[in-house]
Amino acid sequence: MPFSKLTPKRHSLPLFQVEVLRARRKPKAALISLVRNSELEGIEQSMRHLETRFNHKYNYPWIFFNDVPFDDTFKARTQNLTNAECFYATVPESHWSLPKWIDESRFISSLEYLGAIGVGKGWMISYRHMCRWNSGFFYKHPILDDYDWYWRVEPDVHFFCDVDYDPFAFMEENNLKYGFNMNILDDARSFPSMWRQTQEFMSEYPEFIHPEADFSWIIDHKNDGEYNNCQFFSNFEIGSLDFFRSKTYNTYFDYIDRKGGFYYERFGDAPLHTLAVVLFLSKRETHFFRDIGYQHDINKQCPANLLNKCSCEPTDLDENFYKLVMVRWRMARKR
Ligand code: GDP
Ligand code: MN
Repeated sequence: MPFSKLTPKRHSLPLFQVEVLRARRKPKAALISLVRNSELEGIEQSMRHLETRFNHKYNYPWIFFNDVPFDDTFKARTQNLTNAECFYATVPESHWSLPKWIDESRFISSLEYLGAIGVGKGWMISYRHMCRWNSGFFYKHPILDDYDWYWRVEPDVHFFCDVDYDPFAFMEENNLKYGFNMNILDDARSFPSMWRQTQEFMSEYPEFIHPEADFSWIIDHKNDGEYNNCQFFSNFEIGSLDFFRSKTYNTYFDYIDRKGGFYYERFGDAPLHTLAVVLFLSKRETHFFRDIGYQHDINKQCPANLLNKCSCEPTDLDENFYKLVMVRWRMARKR
């Protein structure tokens, strides 16, 4: 039953009962995916997994984004995999093009250089736009205006375990802002200036830093306080759109964007989101979704304690990986 039908007249119930009903309201959330028409089979595979493991019980809408319009086959075949509503959004050109302050010849040199030294996808123009879009634009698309929460899904990923609760409601009820389930170390050659620029931002805008910000797990203590390149693997994210819409986050994004690192280097949305989460949130507002078994390319995590709910085999590697994440990520409170 939609919440509106459950909503009592303001004066007809004691306030605490109104609060109980309000708490049961379904979160305004969507499964979002930036994907190409050519990645239809990959997104079908991701959708099958997520629908089977989670969404067939909750029917959160799917919202697909593309820099060019989706074709009819893409629309028909994705809609065919879910009872939930699907929406298809085209990214405005202004969100997917070279900003006017970028020096084109410096950009082209960077494509050539990163390509030549073998930084992954370092030569691809579209990859630069994609990383910038995931950093500073996905939450600006008007199709998300009415939503509070997103779960980011990529083509060709795997979800191994039944998710028999609603992670969006979990986020909402626990005042969480950012959920992840893997940490990686990325190729530092793709963002050599990001940490220095972030430090400059911090000295210019100290008022934006969260009083409980914990830098300890991203600092390389042996190397003069440099960034250790540890980052949330952002192809999986369950997050608050209001966090990304905030003045704080956007001041940071604009500051970094103006310096051109999405094009002069190959800044990823993963390190950028990570640094923003570290700077602007308390650890209490972040959550490690260890129970959502997941794989993206060669990176995989299979929870060890949920055997009969998962179709993956936990290995020593998973245990070690888990310990590593926990060492890096000392949780601020038990849940
Ligand atoms: P990686 O995971 O860092 O290797 O990056 P991917 O190549 O998987 O790209 C990340 C996400 O962006 C995936 O969901 C891709 O489908 C999507 N993506 C990347 N480039 C483009 C593009 O040019 N157009 C569209 N529509 N999606 C893209
Ligand atoms: Mn990917």
